[in-house]
Amino acid sequence: MPPKKQLSPYKFSCEDLFKTLSKYQCNKLLQSVASSYKIPDDVVLKERENIINQIDNLKVNISYKKRKEYTKKETTTDNLDNRCCGRVYSANNLISIDETTDKLVYGSRCARKIITHGTQYCNQHNKSLTHGNFLEKPNDYIKNHFIVDYIKQINKDGRNGIDAKSELTKRVLDVKRSL
Ligand SMILES: [Zn+2]
Repeated sequence: MPPKKQLSPYKFSCEDLFKTLSKYQCNKLLQSVASSYKIPDDVVLKERENIINQIDNLKVNISYKKRKEYTKKETTTDNLDNRCCGRVYSANNLISIDETTDKLVYGSRCARKIITHGTQYCNQHNKSLTHGNFLEKPNDYIKNHFIVDYIKQINKDGRNGIDAKSELTKRVLDVKRSL
């Protein structure tokens, strides 16, 4: 059996709406032409009737495309064995304190899967490792990059919940002085 042609549930109301709008626009246009060229009322009325009839007799074919179903590809992972080691920059987690090691953490670890076994990175970080390896100590350049933006956020009146007087801020400023 051939598949049934899909009809929009809105087909008929769309058709009505289309015709109503067309009549409205045509009438507006007609009135403006009539007043500009001083066309007599009876001529305008007759023309208006013609237009309305023509629009009413139009066969409007409204169809719609079914939206493609969006399937999210499983690209992220919590499994540390196959998780990318790239460091990622995210404005709401610039610098934090690791509770276990009590060290400053710059950025966060990329959540994507590694490309294949034997590599450390996802597809993107394999091509370009802008913020370095999350498991390695960041160099001064990377530290400075995160610190500068962290300080910018403090100056924006505690945006993103950064507390200018917090222990974290104190430690970040200490690092900044040492760079
Ligand atoms: Zn990655």
